[in-house]
Amino acid sequence: MINRLDHIAIAVQDLDAALGTFVSVLGCDPGSIVIEEVPSEKVRVAFIPIGESHIELLEPLGDEGAVSKFLAKNGEGMHHIALATDDLGQETERVTSLGLNPLGQPSTGAGGKKIVFLHPRQTNRVLFELVEPDPHHH
Ligand code: ZN
Repeated sequence: MINRLDHIAIAVQDLDAALGTFVSVLGCDPGSIVIEEVPSEKVRVAFIPIGESHIELLEPLGDEGAVSKFLAKNGEGMHHIALATDDLGQETERVTSLGLNPLGQPSTGAGGKKIVFLHPRQTNRVLFELVEPDPHHH
């Protein structure tokens, strides 16, 4: 079951500059922000908490990864919407049966969470990420 909006991700050229902007706009405590490198996705990410959900800022590491290519093509802006599920395998199967295409096998994303992306072709060009939060980190 999909039970929560986990985060909305925004692709940025300069994470530190964007963090300054978002911290002021959201009026949040800079100490609550987690910054992490995710080499498997070739990004550096910042998670800004808003209640139960987050805004994720994505900065490319190098010019090889999907986020770097996204920025080259579209410029900065909204990149994906992440939906939390308590059973990633089951949800991936469910949406696959509806004709959606997972982009590869589930992998480990930021925070050690299991994630999978769905091809945006069938979802009005919205890139969805399914994420299974680590039950030990809650
Ligand atoms: Zn994400």
